[in-house]
Amino acid sequence: MDTEVKAAKLTVRCQFCETWNRIDASKVADGPKCGKCGRPILLERPLALNDETFQKTLAESDVPVAVDFYADWCGPCRMMAPAVDALAAHVQGRAIVAKLNTDHSSRTAGGFGIRGIPTTIVFDHGKEVARQSGALPLEGLKQLLARAGVAV
Ligand SMILES: [Zn+2]
Repeated sequence: MDTEVKAAKLTVRCQFCETWNRIDASKVADGPKCGKCGRPILLERPLALNDETFQKTLAESDVPVAVDFYADWCGPCRMMAPAVDALAAHVQGRAIVAKLNTDHSSRTAGGFGIRGIPTTIVFDHGKEVARQSGALPLEGLKQLLARAGVAV
């Protein structure tokens, strides 16, 4: 067993310059900036993931990641979007809340056998721990994330 106390880190790609950053989970609320371009890394709102960034973000982040699989044309997805935004603000530093556009990133979405959208999947160190299809209110999203051990 690893008894050393290590600060949990998040691995996030800068949306401006595409540089990968490692961020202390405890500093997420302090407004972290990209180590290369200095622009803000905004984690109080959902992080956009795609086929290129999905795997690395999930595998190399020490906190659970909740991913909203959605599409622009999907009415229930739009209905749920404010709850996903609120969830991101609520759990920042304790979890990553992300969105994946299933039309733009069909390889990743296809790999998970997504049948209907929206589908929310919670991952812990890259492993699926909870999944729910259909639009969820904020409380439902919190409960899903709690199943990965996140204090909500
Ligand atoms: Zn940058």
